[in-house]
Amino acid sequence: MIPRRRIRLEWADLADALRTPWVSADAAADQVSAFERAFADAIGAPHAIATASGRDALGLILDGLGLGEGDELVIPAYTLGELVPLIRARGIVPVPADVDPASFNMTVASVAARIGPRTRAIFVVHLLGAPCDIRGICALADAHGLAVVEDCAHAFGASIDGRPAGSFGSAALFSLEATKAVAAFGGGVLVTADAALAAAARARLAGRERREWLPVRKMLLKFAEEIAVRSPAYAIAARLMFSARSAGGFDRLYRQAHDRVRGKPLAFSAFQARLGLRKLARVTARQKRLNAQWEALARDLPARFVAQRRSDFGRPAFYNFVARFDGDIGALRAAAQRHGLDLGIGGEVMDDTAAMLGFADCPGAAGAAAQAVLLPLYDGLSEARLRRTVAVLRRIAEELA
Ligand SMILES: *Cc1c(COP(=O)(O)O)cnc(C)c1O
Repeated sequence: MIPRRRIRLEWADLADALRTPWVSADAAADQVSAFERAFADAIGAPHAIATASGRDALGLILDGLGLGEGDELVIPAYTLGELVPLIRARGIVPVPADVDPASFNMTVASVAARIGPRTRAIFVVHLLGAPCDIRGICALADAHGLAVVEDCAHAFGASIDGRPAGSFGSAALFSLEATKAVAAFGGGVLVTADAALAAAARARLAGRERREWLPVRKMLLKFAEEIAVRSPAYAIAARLMFSARSAGGFDRLYRQAHDRVRGKPLAFSAFQARLGLRKLARVTARQKRLNAQWEALARDLPARFVAQRRSDFGRPAFYNFVARFDGDIGALRAAAQRHGLDLGIGGEVMDDTAAMLGFADCPGAAGAAAQAVLLPLYDGLSEARLRRTVAVLRRIAEELA
């Protein structure tokens, strides 16, 4: 089977990082500072603060900006649905702005349409690594006196006019989850030029417990999961788990299990810092390979599949490949399974947050949620597998014609 995602197993990273859990508290703090400095330099921002997750960073940003009860936050109508409860838990009212069906990103016009007297900030995402019109959105925010929070969970390495994504808004969040660009098997980074916001976040993080073995355990579990996924038995199990009838349910269970493992937010560990530094050192080369493979896939796709528009606003950093499928998505899933191709479909890609919040006026998000298909693209994808993916997609397109 051709999987849609793969976590690269780097045994040297594991061996290296396993030396850290025994270091002193001072040495651990030094490691974390070194990682934060390297990350800040990569984004070209004065402050980078390592957090327990991307979500944790978002929470710290919202609190640091003073958003609370009754304040409205414009959010993307198509993004990670798990962010919505985090926003609402603070009494903040999320208001979804529709996305461009070609790029899956919010536009200046869709954001402007959602600004009202209670709006305090705009939460933008560079979805799937394609830069949104961050300059236009920041100009709009300035005109209305609003803060801009940049979700760069997918966009490490993307840039707009040569300036890194994450350096435009009032603050930005990055994710260091196992599936993201700089994977430290959990963690996040808050990036900002606002010294007061940085100080407030640091003060909140100061009392947190540091537990070195938890991220180590997570990495070992991910490695075990990855080895299981690579075994032949997995292909049979996947047919059951991702069948048309059970896929949504399984996906939800999987996400819930992950949330439970997450637990309470801890301090960033020396293990994660060391791993993060090693990943940062390789990230540019990795991104170059992934972008080249993304282009190859986009060029060779059959006509029924339309690749996400690369963006009109800057240089993307792809680590996922998402296309729209113009046709019966259920038939596509069944055909892909017959051919041993693992696709992500609908809510397995991203969520229609407008529908979640009861808004029926975001056709771009509804269309994206109905038609988005995640195709295989990951670090370590072989050229042979890439070609086989294209061949299978062509056969499927003919079968479904
Ligand atoms: C992954 C992700 C986040 C946050 O990630 P964590 O899992 O909390 O580290 C935020 N936004 C988007 C769009 C994401 O995909």
